[in-house]
Amino acid sequence: MSLCYVAFGSNVGDRLQYVLRALELLKRYGSVKKVSTIYVSQPWGKTDQPEFINGVLEFETGLNPIELLFALKEVEKSSGRRPRERWGPREIDLDILLYENHILMLSFLRVPHPHLLDRDFFLFPLLEINSELMHPLYQVPLIQFAQRLENRLEPFACLLPP
Ligand code: ADP
Ligand code: MG
Repeated sequence: MSLCYVAFGSNVGDRLQYVLRALELLKRYGSVKKVSTIYVSQPWGKTDQPEFINGVLEFETGLNPIELLFALKEVEKSSGRRPRERWGPREIDLDILLYENHILMLSFLRVPHPHLLDRDFFLFPLLEINSELMHPLYQVPLIQFAQRLENRLEPFACLLPP
């Protein structure tokens, strides 16, 4: 079994319902160990769109990173994600932030996530559920990067522990 960290986000329709449905569907592929607080965050990249809710979960799975990516795409589809533009509005988005301490640089999968260090809605919820994580590439504690990043997150909801 491998331990990984998956970010989730939604900014269309009943955002919390999309997140809850995705969490439920993820159970087919492994076990959700921890879920961060869910935050309201400001849109990133393409900023003229509705606010997102975001969070991070700790996930234990027997899937390898590529299988996990495909599983996340399946869960996105089954929870109601419709095809839209990149960085645009989405019902549900699931991204792999970390997979053990693996480093992957494939055309369709980069781990650690290429924006892990510059999105407050990735880094802060990740550290909330595990403050001891190291950056697999730089081999320094991730918490050091948090000191340089502005935190504009506002708490939205806390789920009961899985
Ligand atoms: P966004 O970049 O906003 O998450 P998408 O969810 O549409 O947009 O993802 C675009 C593509 O990014 C995916 O099809 C996937 O192949 C690729 N990708 C690369 N690295 C990752 C990762 N760590 N987690 C999830 N998707 C990734
Ligand atoms: Mg994505």
